[in-house]
Amino acid sequence: ASTEGGIALERIAALHAGESAVFRRARPKSEAAIGNGLPGFFGGVPMHWMTDWPTPFPIVVETARGATVTDIDGIRLDDFCLGDTGSMFGHSPAPVARAIRRQAGRGLTYMLPSEDALELGLLLQGTFGLPHWQIATTASDANRFALRVARAVTGRDKILVFNGCYHGAVDETMVRLKGGRPVNRPGLAGEFRDLTQRTRIVEFNDPAALEAELAHGDVACVITEPVLTNSCMVLPDPGFHDALRALTRKAGTLLLIDETHTVSTGLGGYTRVHGLDPDLFVLGKPVAGGVPASIWGMSEAVADRYQAYNRTKEQGYSGMGTTLSANPLQFAAMHATLTEVMTAKNYAHMDTLAERLQAGLARAIRANGLPWHVARVGARVEFICAPGPLRNGGEAEAAHASRLEAALHVALVNRGVLIAPFHNMMLVSPATTARQVDRLVSAFGDIAQGLTA
Ligand code: PMP
Repeated sequence: ASTEGGIALERIAALHAGESAVFRRARPKSEAAIGNGLPGFFGGVPMHWMTDWPTPFPIVVETARGATVTDIDGIRLDDFCLGDTGSMFGHSPAPVARAIRRQAGRGLTYMLPSEDALELGLLLQGTFGLPHWQIATTASDANRFALRVARAVTGRDKILVFNGCYHGAVDETMVRLKGGRPVNRPGLAGEFRDLTQRTRIVEFNDPAALEAELAHGDVACVITEPVLTNSCMVLPDPGFHDALRALTRKAGTLLLIDETHTVSTGLGGYTRVHGLDPDLFVLGKPVAGGVPASIWGMSEAVADRYQAYNRTKEQGYSGMGTTLSANPLQFAAMHATLTEVMTAKNYAHMDTLAERLQAGLARAIRANGLPWHVARVGARVEFICAPGPLRNGGEAEAAHASRLEAALHVALVNRGVLIAPFHNMMLVSPATTARQVDRLVSAFGDIAQGLTA
């Protein structure tokens, strides 16, 4: 195709080139520091994703506070990426910063509970509803451990995922549908297994296909986000979650809801706001206000079955747990987040401004006659450079306009706004202001107008 999102490729390339030059000119100090990569690091960065930002070189951050980041050239950006959800409640929320300072002099890891841990399980029960919890360090880990429990208690070896899913570095979820057939997700490094042997896959919002795959009777667990957020945003059809729950129950299959992104919905995540009833629940990223931590929860029935399983299984390493997990810094930061940051009041602010953002972007799209749309789940907003709504991962993949998204990203940075890389995701935090939202809407409108003029 010679267009993406209705825009000619030459025009997109010109925008990206022009904006890249502007970005570079404004950042002499950053370019000297990182323009040729950081010495000592493979690929010039401490983590390979850092080179995937569409800017000519990564922004080198001097400070991040609330909903702004300032780079070493002194340029301030309104931050709507917020660490792709790790800082969804703002950078260094004051209660979390205080808790970290308090714990900093009392030991950072010792494989034992601290006083903060005494209440934490009750806080998790109260906030997210499930009765039995464990703490890990990343959402990837939490998903891996929860899936292990699902296989253990069901005695089944397969899982089921929805096309377009992402649950972190969890090998068994790395499957895609290609021309209707399951394949290993393209691009995996060093993968020598055929992951489709143990992973069934269907499109989201397709209860008939789900029922047919579950009918094999060999699926331990369906793992899904309540809203697909990792390949353009796909909302569930009305009734889809009811069907998902009824069909998994009927098949003796457990349901794992991964709330890592959709905790943007409101207090207790999409699960609590929409009354879902999962057997297993995972949340990572923002649960400790930016300190690496994750949680996974089990229903009463799963916990009972897992206890019983543990009584009979051969003794030895379970395959779960990492040394730095459930450490006192995590307890301190998570306790502060759950009691003082993840509050109904903060969510109300986030939701109101996210609605304002959604409306503003939709208005700009209409005003410029673009074939794009906006989707939202609570504080999480995404503009998608294709008509919508999208109904599944296959449609979402087709809607992806990677060159256009990259050019828009750099153009927004040059207008003082940072959004997520790889997709057009924006988060509203408790620290985000209406002025920041309006600046983003106006920058977006300005760019849209330039593209269509
Ligand atoms: N689950 C979901 C839904 C995610 O979006 C992600 C990361 N984007 C993860 C799990 C993995 O999180 P982490 O990289 O912190 O392990």
